[in-house]
Amino acid sequence: MLDVIAIGEVLIDFTPAGRSAGGNEQFECNPGGAPANVAAALSRLGAKSALISKVGEDQFGSLLHNTLLGSGVDVSEVSYTKEASTTLAFVHLDDIGDRSFSFFRKPGADTFLQSEDVPLERIESCKALHFGSLSMTHEPARTATKTAVLKAKESGVLLSFDPNIRFALWKNREEARENIFWGMNYADILKISEEELSFITGTSDVEKGSLELQQQFDIKLIVVTLADKGCYYRLAGQDGYVPGFKVKAIDTTGAGDAFLGCLLYKILENGSSLHELTSQQMISMLTFANAGGALVTTRKGALGSMPTTDEITRMIES
Ligand code: ADP
Repeated sequence: MLDVIAIGEVLIDFTPAGRSAGGNEQFECNPGGAPANVAAALSRLGAKSALISKVGEDQFGSLLHNTLLGSGVDVSEVSYTKEASTTLAFVHLDDIGDRSFSFFRKPGADTFLQSEDVPLERIESCKALHFGSLSMTHEPARTATKTAVLKAKESGVLLSFDPNIRFALWKNREEARENIFWGMNYADILKISEEELSFITGTSDVEKGSLELQQQFDIKLIVVTLADKGCYYRLAGQDGYVPGFKVKAIDTTGAGDAFLGCLLYKILENGSSLHELTSQQMISMLTFANAGGALVTTRKGALGSMPTTDEITRMIES
């Protein structure tokens, strides 16, 4: 039985890697995609995770398959398609490691995921399904993602959602908003950044914004990621801030995914339902997640750079 299934985009990030002797910009090729990163973070820690997605029949599709396998992710639901090339994203990093993206030929292979590709029996018997809103930017992947989420909900599987707002990738903002709200309607766990929360709720007060979302959507656990400041969480009846770790960040790609993978790992390891978790348990889990997120920012890339339990423990104890 699988612990966690992630559904959604898997792609190659081309990350800036300085300039050649002749002055041309160079790029490193890093496998990524938020749900793929979450699956990799989980399996690096020892959970059984799988990804449901599609790659192109090209060298990048094979690279993604191999990198996922190398991280321990079950790739039996990552199929090759002739319909499109593997999604390729160019990452632009600013001085403090924050990034923006541009794409080579969208829609890519992962947007061609179909409902028939969704393994309903595997979803029914897993412990948690993770999804984001980016796999809902195009059909048929949007319907396929919704099919998986509805099956998980009906089967009582824990649902984890990351809105992952990237408006540049949506045809229009209304459609983006609609899909993000759709996701929040089904989420048991919502991982959201400070900027996303402020965009959705119209307030920059994370306590007020998260309370509004919890009341509106009945989400059991909301975690707001605050970059180097760590995170804020809200469960029914308790909330609090958990400080982050001081590191020298060089590339923040995948920090939120590592953070979420670590948190899901700890929640499943604990085994209690979310409403039973004490504030002490929440702080311990989120400290682990903050350390996982921080470690990823000290490395280039995401999918292949997820931290191990030992690395996280060392960071917490140092
Ligand atoms: P997202 O990637 O979802 O936008 P963040 O950038 O807030 O989210 O990063 C997710 C988590 O990773 C943070 O909550 C924090 O634990 C960790 N993190 C991110 N950036 C840093 C940083 N510069 N220093 C230390 N920890 C970081």
